[in-house]
Amino acid sequence: MKNRRIVIVGSGLGGYSIAQELRKRDDNLNIVLVTGEAGASYSKPMLSNAIAQQRPAAQWITSSSEAMAARLNLTLKSREQVVSIDVANRRVETSAAHLDYDALVLATGAEPARPPVAGDAAQDVLVVNDLDDYTRFREVVEGAQRVLLIGAGLIGCEFANDLLHANITPIVVDPGPRPLASLVPSETGLALQRALEAGGVQWHFGKTVQSITAANPGYAVTLDNGEIVKVDAVLSAIGLRPRTQLARAAGLRVNRGIVVDNYGCSSHPDIYAIGDCAEYPDGLHPFVRPILVAAKAMAATLLDTPTPIVLPTLPVTVKTPLHPVVALPPEAGIVGAWISESDGENSHLVFWNNEGSISGFSLSGTSSSARAQALLKQISVQPAHA
Ligand SMILES: Cc1cc2nc3c(=O)[nH]c(=O)nc-3n(C[C@H](O)[C@H](O)[C@H](O)COP(=O)(O)OP(=O)(O)OC[C@H]3O[C@@H](n4cnc5c(N)ncnc54)[C@H](O)[C@@H]3O)c2cc1C
Repeated sequence: MKNRRIVIVGSGLGGYSIAQELRKRDDNLNIVLVTGEAGASYSKPMLSNAIAQQRPAAQWITSSSEAMAARLNLTLKSREQVVSIDVANRRVETSAAHLDYDALVLATGAEPARPPVAGDAAQDVLVVNDLDDYTRFREVVEGAQRVLLIGAGLIGCEFANDLLHANITPIVVDPGPRPLASLVPSETGLALQRALEAGGVQWHFGKTVQSITAANPGYAVTLDNGEIVKVDAVLSAIGLRPRTQLARAAGLRVNRGIVVDNYGCSSHPDIYAIGDCAEYPDGLHPFVRPILVAAKAMAATLLDTPTPIVLPTLPVTVKTPLHPVVALPPEAGIVGAWISESDGENSHLVFWNNEGSISGFSLSGTSSSARAQALLKQISVQPAHA
């Protein structure tokens, strides 16, 4: 029987995790990984805390593409795009060749949403979603004094905190009323708002960016209330959208992400999806831990031991060292109330449901991580999808 070939698209955490789990289980499997990136392995979450560390992009690489290919004994095709999938013939077409597969794993990630802004410099808005983006971002902010951030969500707050380490004033614009408005209750958001403001962040809530024009040097950013803000650079952090184009064009089921079942299998039995591009029965899970958990189960399934992906209860951590936040929002539909345990330094809220048990929490301040660990032990582990 011919050696089975698994083709993986993407060299982010999803792509490399599934490759690693497959290789752990099978020395002989033919694995080909195709990626639009250079293929180096690095920790993407560090990119929003990288300025504080004062390390250039190259120093975030933990393994070069050559080292990854050698360690995982796979064929790596870097800086090569998969342009289409021929589902019937189990073949992908790349920018350089055709590749036949027995099973295909899409680990295509997500791409930053771009704000709809006018102005002659609208195309200069930066995003940071990979190492190449980070290299550009670092060049631009080198020597900058004021950087405007679009979005006060998780990533926007992390970058705002990080820029303070380079003595840059972050100016954050968001249509919502406070930071993390869609993730945490107002008490936690306000505690973070105050802490970052004390550190030097300037907030513009209830406003949007309308246009960006070149001001030589820098940019003039016009907000929807007519205010003009002069800055050296603009970074957008308004969220990520799963990359689904390939899957959609191939006729796979796509909703917000590539729709997969509890095994990570798409609507076609030979094609799987993992990471930020995948949508499970209970939704997207665009974080590190779910990817690591999914990779283990998916590798077993791909090697003929069907294993469901069972995600543990996972809080969201916001890496804002001035005022760290850890939150586990209660699932939609759970009835209960937020009870405050806050003291002067920490804003701690615990969500008690009407059955008398804990269904969530929203913690900020220095002791939030320790309190989160204790609360997680009390929460009965409900698989996100069993
Ligand atoms: C700034 C930032 C901070 C974060 N912080 C945290 C954190 O603190 N904790 C946490 O849990 N999560 C965090 N995350 C999320 C976490 O990093 C992601 O969930 C994870 O890295 C996604 O990995 P992925 O492999 O799914 O996608 P990606 O890393 O985006 O990889 C996608 C890959 O697919 C390739 N690709 C796409 N389309 C094609 C194609 N057609 N052909 C070839 N290749 C293609 C791309 O080139 C890339 O290599 C953060 C994310 C960001 C952006």
